[in-house]
Amino acid sequence: MKGRRIFLRRRWSFILVGINQQGKQINLALYKSREELYELRKLNHFFCPQCQSPLLFKIGQKRIPHFSHRHTNDCHSFSEHESPRHLQGKLDLFNWLKNQQMAVQLEAYLPTLQQRPDLFLPDQSIAIEFQCSTIPENLFCKRTSVYQQHQLFPFWIFGGNVQNNQHGLFKLSKFQQLFLQHSSVFDYWLPTYCPDQRAFTFLLHIIPISTTLFSARKLTIPLEKLSFPLTIPKLKSTVSITLKDWMKLKKDWIQKRMYYSHRQRNKFLNDVYNSKRNPFLLHPYIGLPVKGMIFLNLHPLEWQFYLWNEIFNHLSIGAEVSIEKCVECLRNVMRIHGVRWSEFPLTPTLSIRQLVHEYFKLLEELEVLFYNREGKYIIRQHIEDAENMMEALKKETKMIQQYERFVWNKRI
Ligand SMILES: [Zn+2]
Repeated sequence: MKGRRIFLRRRWSFILVGINQQGKQINLALYKSREELYELRKLNHFFCPQCQSPLLFKIGQKRIPHFSHRHTNDCHSFSEHESPRHLQGKLDLFNWLKNQQMAVQLEAYLPTLQQRPDLFLPDQSIAIEFQCSTIPENLFCKRTSVYQQHQLFPFWIFGGNVQNNQHGLFKLSKFQQLFLQHSSVFDYWLPTYCPDQRAFTFLLHIIPISTTLFSARKLTIPLEKLSFPLTIPKLKSTVSITLKDWMKLKKDWIQKRMYYSHRQRNKFLNDVYNSKRNPFLLHPYIGLPVKGMIFLNLHPLEWQFYLWNEIFNHLSIGAEVSIEKCVECLRNVMRIHGVRWSEFPLTPTLSIRQLVHEYFKLLEELEVLFYNREGKYIIRQHIEDAENMMEALKKETKMIQQYERFVWNKRI
């Protein structure tokens, strides 16, 4: 009984655009004063633009004036849970776009798509979805692909808060990661809007630290200072963490694996020990960040270790390293570790081959590989693990001094 009541409440809907008895569209966002709204309510009856059933018109003190169905589960068009936060955000964005003289439609139902974006810009072919509550990944992907199939650009804005932890890192759930976009200027980024602050917050130049922890540059801009299409200023520095911090986080990552998982049960640690190596003494070129790592649900230390252990270390100086063999090696590692290649619906996917290629380019700059005239990668020098922690630290410091700017500015 209790469960059912919660279910009904969750399906409660708030509607901003209704139809009156003459079939005229009534958009509540266009009424500025309460007097106007009371007058409107006195003179009209309201109906759902979708199912035509009568609507209640609520003008309360706390919530934004809105329509709602008498019986919430009758209407499939407005069945998704809409919080007051969602309603406020939708209104803010509507007024913001309208003030820029844009032809924007609120809650427009697009019959051929059978979808109702929060805001629709017909002239620009853009559908805006302001999403506060978590929806299943397949629904997010389906809505996105339906827009794309109809030549509409889906612009998804996350309606929740993104908070950084004490280390300045952001925890992004699998749902929040769906909003990830890619641009040549901001790399991986995502937009959020907060109606309480009346401001957009952007996470830019996002770098994965683990599968749910990310480093990013955060930029908050009040709504009135922004125009649409979004005019996000370019940042002077795109670096959210230093290479030194990256190395420290890498060590924390190893420590956590050692602490939380029994050595025998952690496949990666087990493989490192079985090859008579120590995870803390691995050469610092193993475990470096590259852009494509966001797609692979393994730490760079893991997948780069397997590349070295299974391929690079068996080749002598002057020998060719085959990208195909590395791709095959990673496919195998993913299968054994039960890891899949991530896909983000708003972001073009890289291939495993592109990821390997990024790492090869990095190793070329680090003078480990050499790219010859025939377009082949050749082993130029061997790298060796440190003998002890002191030596490991020395190797790391040397790498940071020599390559910090390169590793971060060019690859990330
Ligand atoms: Zn309805």
